[in-house]
Amino acid sequence: MTAAEPSPGKNPRTRLAGFDLSGQVALVTGANRGIGLAIALELADAGADLALAARNRELLEEARQRIERAGRRASVIVADVSRSDDAERMVRECLAEHGRLDAFVHSAGISPYYKRAERLTEREWTEVIQTNLTGAFLCNQAAGRQMISAGRGGRIVNIVSIGARVGLPRLAAYCAAKAGVESLTRVLALEWAPHNILVNAIGPAYIATDMSKGLQENPRLNKALMDQTPLGRLGEPDEVAGLAVYLASPAASYVTGQTFFVDGGWLAQ
Ligand code: NDP
Repeated sequence: MTAAEPSPGKNPRTRLAGFDLSGQVALVTGANRGIGLAIALELADAGADLALAARNRELLEEARQRIERAGRRASVIVADVSRSDDAERMVRECLAEHGRLDAFVHSAGISPYYKRAERLTEREWTEVIQTNLTGAFLCNQAAGRQMISAGRGGRIVNIVSIGARVGLPRLAAYCAAKAGVESLTRVLALEWAPHNILVNAIGPAYIATDMSKGLQENPRLNKALMDQTPLGRLGEPDEVAGLAVYLASPAASYVTGQTFFVDGGWLAQ
């Protein structure tokens, strides 16, 4: 190496180049609003082309237009992550449109019930587990199969929650599902390490999206949550997105099987 060449790992421009996703394709579920949309926008900002998946086509189209205005290619896939045929079709449509799949971010999720376990019906339990846990399995499986057969490695990022680690009262099914996805993340990281497919998870605390609207609008609950959050405020979706870009990028090439929390200090207590 001559004196004029940057030393790898020492020149800041060399290090930041590890976050560049130019020429890569990322598929994001839950990409039409909230945390998934913020992640899709940030991945596009880092240079990736995007396949955007969720159920509401109109919101997906809006997301696609925002990404294309930013100069990246984006496609829309209407899919229900809790259905195996949709999970497989989602990956097929991504390949048909973009020709490859480098990163898969699974952000789709629901939290429709806020009630004590003794009042939760079996139907409600099953709905949350089917979408949040089985859906994560089906989508990780479909993305992982494609990455294995393409033989180029890959990145998978699952959005879990602080509820994967701590009990959140009145959210039994939600917490059980998220703990399940955290565990699934570790197993897939081990199974797919020989293929250089890195599987990690991000666990947010309360983030200002449609999902947390009910809590935000209840003054008593909102105060209790803020009192429990060391930073004393909700997080914003784009405060989760930077970590997802890191985990999807070459900069994270030696990181797998981990869960990282974006929680305003919640789990430090
Ligand atoms: P939002 O309610 O804002 O968005 C949920 C997203 O998931 C939407 O894009 C929705 O699109 C999609 N989605 C829901 N069900 C399905 C389905 N069956 N098939 C396909 N897409 C689906 O929630 P957030 O953005 O806040 O949540 C994103 C992730 O982050 C979730 O996994 C959530 O559990 C997690 N999380 C959120 C926290 C928060 O406080 N907001 C805290 C911790 C974790 P559509 O309805 O069109 O299908």
